[in-house]
Amino acid sequence: MAKGKIGVSSDNLFPIIKKFLYSDHEIFLREIVSNAVDATQKLSTLASKGEYSKELSDRKVSVKIDKDAKTLTVSDHGIGMTADEVKKYINQIAFSGANEFLEKYKNDAAAIIGHFGLGFYSSFMVSNQVEIISKSYQDDAEAIHWSCDGSPEYTLKKGDRNEVGTDIIMHINEDSKEFLEEYRVKELLEKYCRFLPVPIQFGKVKEWKDGEYVDTDKDLIINDTNPAWTKAPTDLKPEDYKEFYHKLYPGIEDPLFNIHLNVDYPFNLTGILYFPKLKNSVEIQKNKIQLYSNQVFVTDHVEEIVPDFLTLLHGVIDSPDIPLNVSRSYLQSDHNVKKISNHITKKVADRLEEIFKNDRADFEKKWDDLKIFIEYGILSNEKFAERAKKFFLYKNTDGKYFTVEEYENIIKDNQKDKDDNLIHLYTNNKDEQFSFISAAKEKGYDVLLLDSVLTAALINKFEQEDSKKRFTRVDSDVVDKLIEKDDRQKETLPENERDELETVFSAVTPQGEAGYYVTFEDLGEKAQPMVITQNEFMRRMKDMSAIQGGMSMYGNLPDNYTVVVNIAHPLVKEVIENKNQELAAELEPISSQLKEKTDEKTSLEKLKEGKKEEEIPQEEKDKLTEVSKAITQLESEKREKLKAFGTDNKLAKQLVDLALLANNMLKGEALDTFVKRSIELIK
Ligand code: ADP
Repeated sequence: MAKGKIGVSSDNLFPIIKKFLYSDHEIFLREIVSNAVDATQKLSTLASKGEYSKELSDRKVSVKIDKDAKTLTVSDHGIGMTADEVKKYINQIAFSGANEFLEKYKNDAAAIIGHFGLGFYSSFMVSNQVEIISKSYQDDAEAIHWSCDGSPEYTLKKGDRNEVGTDIIMHINEDSKEFLEEYRVKELLEKYCRFLPVPIQFGKVKEWKDGEYVDTDKDLIINDTNPAWTKAPTDLKPEDYKEFYHKLYPGIEDPLFNIHLNVDYPFNLTGILYFPKLKNSVEIQKNKIQLYSNQVFVTDHVEEIVPDFLTLLHGVIDSPDIPLNVSRSYLQSDHNVKKISNHITKKVADRLEEIFKNDRADFEKKWDDLKIFIEYGILSNEKFAERAKKFFLYKNTDGKYFTVEEYENIIKDNQKDKDDNLIHLYTNNKDEQFSFISAAKEKGYDVLLLDSVLTAALINKFEQEDSKKRFTRVDSDVVDKLIEKDDRQKETLPENERDELETVFSAVTPQGEAGYYVTFEDLGEKAQPMVITQNEFMRRMKDMSAIQGGMSMYGNLPDNYTVVVNIAHPLVKEVIENKNQELAAELEPISSQLKEKTDEKTSLEKLKEGKKEEEIPQEEKDKLTEVSKAITQLESEKREKLKAFGTDNKLAKQLVDLALLANNMLKGEALDTFVKRSIELIK
């Protein structure tokens, strides 16, 4: 029997493995099982080259729990190790600058394990003692038995084993008892070993018998040794891709389509990516891509390897070239990782373009489920945005789809304003903005349906890229002003009439937190009598602040609406006439008094001109104060009368309510009142 000291340059390696790697300790099983898989595959390779002539026995790797002995054992029939190899591969953990590195990465288990190739030693995170019983494939090799209790001391003696292969026996420590539980070990095997290329056996298949589960004599194999992504695309049918998808994500709807990645230069990468049905949400879909290294599960956090928008995809990426066990910041700056990321972006764009070109009808059918992904890509990745110009689609309110180029061709004759801007009209809700959409269509305009959560950001980007391109929501102004062409001759109101009517109509707008500003416009007698709009800029700012936060200044502002009263409409004319008839007699004396007082004020002010304050007689000053007061008084009297008229005017009220109703803004009690008033008016 030999005793010795493990060749680490630092005595404190084990405490670090045991203590600092605590958070990631479950990976020990992945490390031990994949060593066993490697050894098994190596022996097959040797056999295929004729360097091992005995019959290959069972190729399985098996995992066993012995609760009484408190051990977890991983056994293989791989190449095994001779005493010399144990000394070389297990005892000599040869590395330089260990202390420095350990200090730097002491909280990053994956980095340490990856850096030192400490795979095997990770078993000490969960064990008091680890034994290796191994017999090398080499002719006449003696079996060996290595044992170590976690200190740098070890023993190495002759082992008792006849078959070629290795047992790794882990004596599980008090803190890690969970790894003696069948369900827990099974869970880990299913997570990390599900697609390993060699069968992993864990106990027996169970069956339900006499009220309990009992073992059958069939081995339970945890893994699929030949997952779809390792096969050639030509060997797979569409159903195979779907089946594999459902295996990865049970209970999810079918994917839209898939991309089979298969690269061997300048790096190795295989995998299958799926486009899930995204609907209109981004967040819930993330963290679905699984990263493997030679079929060993590594992580489902792939943020550093693929661009953010691609994390919305599902599926598997397998690459031995990604430095898997190093820290995240290192990954981000790694050259290979960047290349892989660019490559995947390119492949995804290629595939989308291919589907669009080859089967546009199918692409359009899937667009609604796909658009959020493409929009996210356009917003977050310039390279992708450039490629997406060919297959990004607009959908209009008639359900037709257009590429950007096609759409611009369609609207260019009719939707340019007087400054040559190309105006894209859009709605985010066909039902709520129905009357605006019809008004626009009647005018021969086309209206897009842009109803994604990313719309506000996307159209900002489009406008920034092309200063002649504008997006205007159909309800942001009256139809005549959505696209400003050369002005036609229009009716206008005299100033005093406008002031009076503003008071009348303001009295009938909703009196809540939101602000309503009344303006007057000649929209033509065929247009709506009254239209409520919300300024495009303000609304967009509010939309943006709702999705990205930060711009809370806008988010917190109350909503402001403009009530456009169409002075050319007969019903509005009727209200104006009513007002004139009903109030003329009452307003007449007030108005003439007002005129008198205003004239007086003007002449008093003239007297003051060019004089210093102390030169003006007190009498004159008092007179001016008195006149100003009287004017305020008269104006308020007049306003009260106009307000009272407005409040009582059913027609005016009805017109405002109709405009609110067209915007889906009439709710609750106001709606009820409207219905009752309508019935009254019909009677
Ligand atoms: P790595 O696997 O990264 O080389 P490990 O510490 O996990 O690092 O293993 C060190 C070496 O020990 C392996 O490269 C292999 O040569 C040997 N080894 C480990 N486990 C086995 C096994 N089950 N059968 C044969 N050789 C093994």
